[in-house]
Amino acid sequence: MKPKIWLSSPHMSGNELSYIQDAFDANWVAPLGPNVNGFENDLTTYLQEERHVAALASGTAALHLSLILLGIGQGDEVICQSKTFSASANPIIYQGATPVFVDSEEETWNMCPEQLERAIRDRISKDKTPKAIIAVHLYGMPYSVDEINAIASKYNIPVIEDSAEALGSLYKGQHCGTLGDFSVLSFNGNKIITTSGGGALVISTSELKEKAIFLATQARDQAPYYLHSEIGYNYRMSNIVAGIGRGQMTVLDQHVKQRRANYNHYREAFKANTQITFLKEPEGMTSNRWLTCILLDSETTREGLRQALEHENIESRPLWKPMHQQPVFKAYPHYLNGVSDALFQRGLCLPSGSNLTEEELNRVTRTVHAYFKT
Ligand SMILES: *Cc1c(COP(=O)(O)O)cnc(C)c1O
Repeated sequence: MKPKIWLSSPHMSGNELSYIQDAFDANWVAPLGPNVNGFENDLTTYLQEERHVAALASGTAALHLSLILLGIGQGDEVICQSKTFSASANPIIYQGATPVFVDSEEETWNMCPEQLERAIRDRISKDKTPKAIIAVHLYGMPYSVDEINAIASKYNIPVIEDSAEALGSLYKGQHCGTLGDFSVLSFNGNKIITTSGGGALVISTSELKEKAIFLATQARDQAPYYLHSEIGYNYRMSNIVAGIGRGQMTVLDQHVKQRRANYNHYREAFKANTQITFLKEPEGMTSNRWLTCILLDSETTREGLRQALEHENIESRPLWKPMHQQPVFKAYPHYLNGVSDALFQRGLCLPSGSNLTEEELNRVTRTVHAYFKT
């Protein structure tokens, strides 16, 4: 069997262990400490915005806290991009609220502004004004931020920016992760940088950051004993994990460069193949190309190619199956235009790690070429 080529695997810089060693030396083996603060500062500096960063146990925790900070609960409705990973939508259910799914546009594969406005108007007509909008920069491609924000402010609905896949992407020169009322980052094992597991909430004021950390550390009131007047969560990032994050921040720009080079490699290799198309960057958008995705002419071709790659021990994956098609979510309201369904049928993510070698990339392209020749 040939060695496995993964879709997206962790890529350590070598600097991580020294931060972890510091944590051990100082015995800061806890969900607080210098690495946690250091990682938050590194992220704030990187995002180059007047933003405040709270390091958390996961991106999912950051999404959940966003909903809690917005006061969303039982009976409320929250609009969510249908084409996404389930973690974007699950926290809506944690809060006892109702997800309302909105389809994608062809230009970015992300939330369609027209469908968003149609959904908002329809929910308002049913006397159910949505309490938040969760928009996602899928595979690193920014959503149409200006259009979505314009609609959100027209109806006075806050935006939660799910930037779990888009650290290092830019919208009109601004970093993804700074473009929502609440912004969410993830450092899970397959993301552009990883801390093994982890996430962050990026917010506009230090008061909100303090409130997020208060909730993430069991909501302890000021008192010499344990006093609680609110329900808390155990959502803070550990100082060991944050040490990995500090090491990863030293190579984030390099990872973006390498992932973008993967995309260019595939595009060049398949440019003569009329059955393969790529998602291009609309004007003003720079994707970190977390995953390179291609569209095939049919579901049959997509599945045939996936199996041909698997046969060569190469991991690939269909695009996210939309939430309105998921057994657990399909009963909830949805506003569709057919785009996300078609993308799911025809789309495939190719190996995209920042640690792929030239030889591995060539093995992938050779396998794709061979599939189309037979
Ligand atoms: C990974 C991911 C999340 C969840 O982040 P975790 O850190 O794994 O909890 C949320 N949304 C999207 C789009 C993701 O890809």
